[in-house]
Amino acid sequence: AIRLQEVDKFYGTFQALHGVDLEVSTGERVVICGPSGSGKSTLIRCINQLEEHDGGRIEVRGVKLGDDLRNLDAVRREAGMVFQHFNLFPHVTVLENCVMPQVLSRGTKRKAAEDTARGYLDRVRILEQADKFPGQLSGGQQQRVVIARALCMEPKIMLFDEPTSALDPEMISEVLDVMVDLAGTAMTMVVVTHEMGFARRVADRVVYMEAGAAVETGTPDQIFGTPRDERTRRFLSKVM
Ligand code: ATP
Ligand code: MG
Repeated sequence: AIRLQEVDKFYGTFQALHGVDLEVSTGERVVICGPSGSGKSTLIRCINQLEEHDGGRIEVRGVKLGDDLRNLDAVRREAGMVFQHFNLFPHVTVLENCVMPQVLSRGTKRKAAEDTARGYLDRVRILEQADKFPGQLSGGQQQRVVIARALCMEPKIMLFDEPTSALDPEMISEVLDVMVDLAGTAMTMVVVTHEMGFARRVADRVVYMEAGAAVETGTPDQIFGTPRDERTRRFLSKVM
């Protein structure tokens, strides 16, 4: 579903990605881990073209990125994105946060959009908060709304960039539970996270990144049990 070949990314003269290769098949769940500054966010932002890559090739569901702006639209439609910070619209209700994008960017009729929104808010177990404003919810609740809002657009791929790292510890599991649930639906998922327990539970493959390179890729058992690269071993001994 997603294919990166030899992808380079520069910020000015600083090279943030060095020839990254990554393939994510349809329905596959890939977790990306690695130290701060290793290029995890950059990688994910290149996949949905919040950043333009400078070298190599990125294909999302058969569409090559970079040479046609229409392709950008296609990818944005198909990939839902959840960031560390809950970027909800603060001045409208939770329900409206989920309805608006459907109506504005897909022209969905209001009634249908509301039904869809209620369905996904129920799915992330937050339907009872539908009429509140984002600021009235806890961080964990807001992040679940963000996930519901993304799902309302019926994405084929969900990209997560440290969705739990801004949360208080007691709220992390309620968000991870929703992601585990989503992983059971054959959704293609790319997840940047430091939650190694989550990676063990749901990842088909784990990618270890360091200094802009995909150092090692393997199953959770292989990466956590018998990491081949010295850099992977060193990182894991610190975080696990
Ligand atoms: P973290 O775990 O802290 O989120 P990360 O692995 O997501 O780190 P990136 O945010 O992808 O790392 O950053 C990779 C490198 O690129 C870092 O050295 C960072 O300083 C640099 N970088 C990221 N965004 C920009 C930018 N907009 N302009 C210049 N340099 C940037
Ligand atoms: Mg990051």
